[in-house]
Amino acid sequence: MDTRTPTGFDLPPLASRGLGVRFFGVRGSIPVPGAGTLVYGGNTACVEIRVNGRLFIVDAGSGLAALGNALIDGPERSIDILLSHLHQDHIVGLPFFGPLYDPDRNIKIYAGNLGGRTPETALRTMFSPPLFPIELDHKAKHLEFIGFRAGETLRFDDGASVRTVPLRHPGGATGYRFDSGGQAVAYVSDFEHAGPAPEKEMIDFVRGCELVIYDATFTVEDYMACKGWGHSTVEAGLALCAAAGAKRLAAFHHNPEYDDAKLAEVDAMLEKASPGSFCAREGQVMHFDEIALPASQPSA
Ligand SMILES: [Zn+2]
Ligand SMILES: [Zn+2]
Repeated sequence: MDTRTPTGFDLPPLASRGLGVRFFGVRGSIPVPGAGTLVYGGNTACVEIRVNGRLFIVDAGSGLAALGNALIDGPERSIDILLSHLHQDHIVGLPFFGPLYDPDRNIKIYAGNLGGRTPETALRTMFSPPLFPIELDHKAKHLEFIGFRAGETLRFDDGASVRTVPLRHPGGATGYRFDSGGQAVAYVSDFEHAGPAPEKEMIDFVRGCELVIYDATFTVEDYMACKGWGHSTVEAGLALCAAAGAKRLAAFHHNPEYDDAKLAEVDAMLEKASPGSFCAREGQVMHFDEIALPASQPSA
């Protein structure tokens, strides 16, 4: 089976300093290719985040196949995939992630919503007949599964660290925050807000972020019929960013029933309510350069 899909697209590479974000999949629940989703994209959750060039992949939805194509000839030998949780729209791209089949890569897959258990058992089930014809090699040294508890800070061998937070969602999910040079990008999906006012824990988590990638599956009108499903609204995302002094909301995990025309309306509303905020688009690339920190003053 060819694990390099022909549906990949070329995006400009991310800079080697500061924070970089490339959106490979922005949709929730199920991929929705077609004429109505050409602008915002139909692939499910997958975002590449670079911290001073250091690669993180957040979620492994159907967008992961194209990201795998982008990485296949790249220099990265170590690839960390941080899963928000294991619902299918967040892992369905894994079997089609080319680097997974390259024994010269070290691939680590993290999950924080399983009470500290690793995602190995669930993912091995996914990679087994009759669900998928290729099994993961039990002895493969290049593949590791790591469990942690959402809320812990992940610390990596190269000194990198990533903050995490538990998210309200059926079965739990994990939010991630990437900091560099006084700037930060947070990924908060999948998540349902608790009520009209943002919660302190979430405000603290996204405080001062340049960008908050947020589960905005519903508009507030559509949410009323879907309360308790584990997803949030564009409006709750805006309220969270305002309370936390976060600069931009990236509405994410788009409702598969929202076509380009609907998302364009949401996009216009976002720009008006919070200039710089937007509906994330598949193929969108963003950079945040480091803020120059003041030189340290000699102590008195
Ligand atoms: Zn989802
Ligand atoms: Zn989910």
